[in-house]
Amino acid sequence: MIPLEEAQARIDRDIEVLPPVQVPIGQTRGLVLAESVATMEAIPPFANTAMDGFAVRSLDTVGASDDTPITVPVVGTIAAGAVADRPLEAGQAMRIMTGAPMPDGADAVIMVELTNPVGNDAVELRAEVPVGNHVRPAGDDLAADTVVFEPGAVLTPGHIGVLASVGRETVLVHQRPRVGVFSTGDELTVGPSPLQAGQIRDSNRPTLLSLVEEAGFEAVDLGLLRDDEAAIEAALRDAVGSVDALLTSGGVSMGDFDFVKQVLAKLGDLNWMQIAIKPAKPLAFGLLLDTPIFGLPGNPVSSMVSFELFARPALRKMMGRPDVLRPHVLALADEPLRRHTDGKTHFQRVVLSQENDGAWRVRSAGGQGSHQLSAMATANGLAVLPDGDGVAVGGQVRALLLD
Ligand code: AMP
Ligand code: MG
Repeated sequence: MIPLEEAQARIDRDIEVLPPVQVPIGQTRGLVLAESVATMEAIPPFANTAMDGFAVRSLDTVGASDDTPITVPVVGTIAAGAVADRPLEAGQAMRIMTGAPMPDGADAVIMVELTNPVGNDAVELRAEVPVGNHVRPAGDDLAADTVVFEPGAVLTPGHIGVLASVGRETVLVHQRPRVGVFSTGDELTVGPSPLQAGQIRDSNRPTLLSLVEEAGFEAVDLGLLRDDEAAIEAALRDAVGSVDALLTSGGVSMGDFDFVKQVLAKLGDLNWMQIAIKPAKPLAFGLLLDTPIFGLPGNPVSSMVSFELFARPALRKMMGRPDVLRPHVLALADEPLRRHTDGKTHFQRVVLSQENDGAWRVRSAGGQGSHQLSAMATANGLAVLPDGDGVAVGGQVRALLLD
């Protein structure tokens, strides 16, 4: 058995960041920028009003108050998207709507709430306003000719909005890996028809496909493979051309029909590992024509944990993400989390909850067998229990946060 970190390091050595591609900005959430983005224009491009009200000259408001309002003529209306047809002269006001450009000659806005209409053509100003009042100068958000984002930025909705406002339709990002998912096993079937003797339903494929999507990759369902060496070999050969990485489940342990590891050994440089963790001890990892293949164990909880610890970080590295690991928290055990000494690190399925003061508590999510998937449905974390006999009530546990 090798330690977890050794297994992760072996995989990491073979994983490279995917080349950058141009992608429409609307499809880039979660992707990693591969260019620096600059704006030629100032944002906002022109001085405009932050309030609905009246564009004025600050000097013309001196002395105005509720008791001593100043009445001025209203010489026009500027809507957002329009431009004043004349400059503002001393002693005048123009009606102006949020986002509309300031007219030449005006240096302040008085909001509509501090005015009273006097017919259609005049307005009472009931407050003094300083120069620049409610005016958003050009370039107040971004100055012209500046770099806005550097390579390596992980794009969020906020980034996408900025990209749109500087006029970008596409942007250079690291590709989202396309990840193909196979299940293997003669016992597997899908759908509602009654199970024949010895059969179970394939739960790994839908689980892995949704883990792939949740992590921000593109999932490709490649179906179910029988425990047949030739069929597995043909399917893997066929798949590697059309995906950036492959996940299989089952067929990587010591059984007579565990062909996935044999096929990987034949086709590529197989790294078959026995890792000192529970669940998810066996893992077959290899490159086939430069495409990484993760041969995950078949037990449903093992395949999920294996995905979390090995495939997810590697695939996030492929898309250039700096944050490849799930966050860890330190939690206090609300109940004992027991285990036995076996030389392995255990990953127990747990429910983590956060108190009002920010402290984390942890309890078991249910049955801890690697076939007991139902606890995985309740769990939102994996408690990391080092070799030993576990943690007593009130003890501190490190846990991986899964959502
Ligand atoms: P294997 O790694 O192929 O020896 O499988 C280990 C265990 O996981 C066996 O009990 C299998 O029946 C089960 N298993 C394998 N693949 C799947 C799957 N896709 N869905 C649910 N259980 C599976
Ligand atoms: Mg099997």
